[in-house]
Amino acid sequence: MEKLNAAQPLFPHLPERLSGLEDLAENLWWSWNPGARMLFKTLDRQAWKESGHNPDKMLREFPGLLLEKAGADPDYIRRYDDVMKLFHNYMQQKECSLLKPGLPDKKHAVAYFSAEFGLHRSLPFYAGGLGFLAGDFIKECSDLCVPLVAVGFMYPEGYFRQQIRDDGWQENLVESINREAAPISKVMGKDGNQLVIKVPLTDPAIHVAVWKVAVGRVSLYLMDTDVEINDPWNRGISARLYTGDLEQRLRQEITLGLGGAQMLKTLGIDHYLLHLNEGHAAFALLERIRSMVSEGKDFSTALKQNINTTIFTTHTPVPAGHDVFPFQLIEKYFHYYWPDLGLDRNAFFQLGLHPEKPDAGFNMTAFAMRLSGCRNAVSKRHAKVSQKMWQSLWPEVLEDKVPIDYVTNGVHVPTWIEPKIKLLLDKYLGDHWLDNHDDPAIWQRMDTVPDVELWQTHYWLKVKLIDAIRERARQRWTNGNASASIILTGGAFLDPSVLTIGFARRFATYKRALLIFQDLERLKKFFKDRWRPIQIIFAGKAHPADDPGKRLLQNLINLSRDPQLGGRIAFVEDYGEQLAQYLVHGVDVWLNNPLPPFEACGTSGMKAALNGVPQLSIIDGWWGEGFNGKNGWAIEHDETSADPDGSDADKIYKALEQEIIPRYYNVSDNGVPHEWVRLMKETIKSNAAGFSARRMVKDYIEKFCKYSG
Ligand SMILES: *Cc1c(COP(=O)(O)O)cnc(C)c1O
Repeated sequence: MEKLNAAQPLFPHLPERLSGLEDLAENLWWSWNPGARMLFKTLDRQAWKESGHNPDKMLREFPGLLLEKAGADPDYIRRYDDVMKLFHNYMQQKECSLLKPGLPDKKHAVAYFSAEFGLHRSLPFYAGGLGFLAGDFIKECSDLCVPLVAVGFMYPEGYFRQQIRDDGWQENLVESINREAAPISKVMGKDGNQLVIKVPLTDPAIHVAVWKVAVGRVSLYLMDTDVEINDPWNRGISARLYTGDLEQRLRQEITLGLGGAQMLKTLGIDHYLLHLNEGHAAFALLERIRSMVSEGKDFSTALKQNINTTIFTTHTPVPAGHDVFPFQLIEKYFHYYWPDLGLDRNAFFQLGLHPEKPDAGFNMTAFAMRLSGCRNAVSKRHAKVSQKMWQSLWPEVLEDKVPIDYVTNGVHVPTWIEPKIKLLLDKYLGDHWLDNHDDPAIWQRMDTVPDVELWQTHYWLKVKLIDAIRERARQRWTNGNASASIILTGGAFLDPSVLTIGFARRFATYKRALLIFQDLERLKKFFKDRWRPIQIIFAGKAHPADDPGKRLLQNLINLSRDPQLGGRIAFVEDYGEQLAQYLVHGVDVWLNNPLPPFEACGTSGMKAALNGVPQLSIIDGWWGEGFNGKNGWAIEHDETSADPDGSDADKIYKALEQEIIPRYYNVSDNGVPHEWVRLMKETIKSNAAGFSARRMVKDYIEKFCKYSG
């Protein structure tokens, strides 16, 4: 059932000597290996840029002559051979010494279901943090040889592209990806056509075409309902992420859960553990139970067996993050289904009942909590919040005994470390630091990095960030459809010598993007300081259905246009993976000021910390564990205050006035702010190992992979 047919090379122009570039282009491994990335980039920088950093697209369109030339260039060939050797070694490794013996093997494979995956800019199948967490999780499972298959959607329209109108309102541009030129491949069926499966028990049947992305050693199977035999409504199921229409949303989740399970069955992929990344995927549970019932087990026996082998990760305390479907919709789609489980209507509804809101509908999180034996939140604080939130499911136990554990999120280090920073670490942390990067001891060697080298690298990255932003602004200007003031707010005034604060995340109201504007007069003083000014770069999308979020964004745009604020605020459109990379590498301080307790974890700050960018953050989510008193600034939210926003903002201003600005601008004669660099080193030292995806995946295995069979 593999896609590639040796008789039909994907890239006919590829000379024999470079034939391995095809395998490389078709496996995202290249995206987290700088040497592999450079093989594509150095073929032709302009073509690389125009392809959107997508080697599949680039090689399809690339002139054969230039490929021949590269194939005859000894330097290129040497680099090519080195990369191919690394790649083959990586792919052939079956058992990683990194994992302890007795942990997952083929027999104990894991199926990981998620509605979104954030892997790379060329695959826009994510809306935000949940997706990047899933992407980083499967990359790390590949690195650690965890036998895992992943299940998700191929969204031809992705999320959406953001453009800001002249009046500051967010426009959602729809752009369809070209499936042929995306780094995904068709999974072929026995009949020689792309495999199409049917979602069980839907009428009219929902047909799903199957695609695959190779993520190192892990296969991610993607479902696509845009196939001709589906009626238009069914075709639209996987068109884009998180449709606002409730019924279509339910049909998405039915397709992800029931269809995903059916897809794995058709592919002959056995799995022992089921890992549900958020409630969207929870219907996958039902197919396991149904198949056990069809083999003669009764529902409760099947349920028990399922419970022992299911992990459910909850990702947010925000109510809108938990899908609740009206019972009549559930009835419409599941009345065919519950007899197969040996249940009646009432017993089925009970599975998704929220005890505090029994009439509200079928709650996907309550359902997943009940039917999974291993449940986890995504930070220590979030576990406490979740225990409180879901106490009513376990009325017989005390709140702190509610069986929800936690595994704090982490980020995939090879993906998020900036290549120049990596070179610096290669030089000072020893040859094998990357292989042992979840060992905190490795990072103690940060002290041996000379201040001037770390500072110059960071400064170079800041220049690169600001260059990229100005170039975007210039493009928008050149396209001629934007006013001068919207171009200025896009970052035309940014200055690399100025202390730069970054704030980039979804424009959900609880993230309080406008908190720092609480006291405009005080803020103006920072911006207008002739010798020690600050500037702030914002980015982020509001969900298309979130009008309060869009209004917040519009207010921000209008504020940043105000000449009184000195042109020191930039809003960069269309936050996505590539912009995130630039920002977390290049700003000086990462600002995060959500309203506690709504930030379950937050991962963008971890990406910044890994690259030496300290946090100025409210204590919530991961920062409750990450802050050690000397690696940034922690703001304790005071909910008893008469004006909690004002009080939080006041603490931010104080941190800026008393600590951040003086320390940043205290530069020695050689141009290096040594105190600041010490802070950068402390940030890396204290956060890099503990907030790596490697530590996270190992935690999941140790906490939840206690096999009963
Ligand atoms: C990491 C990342 C996120 C998640 O970060 P938060 O801190 O949880 O907001 C969202 N979007 C992009 C593009 C990212 O890279």
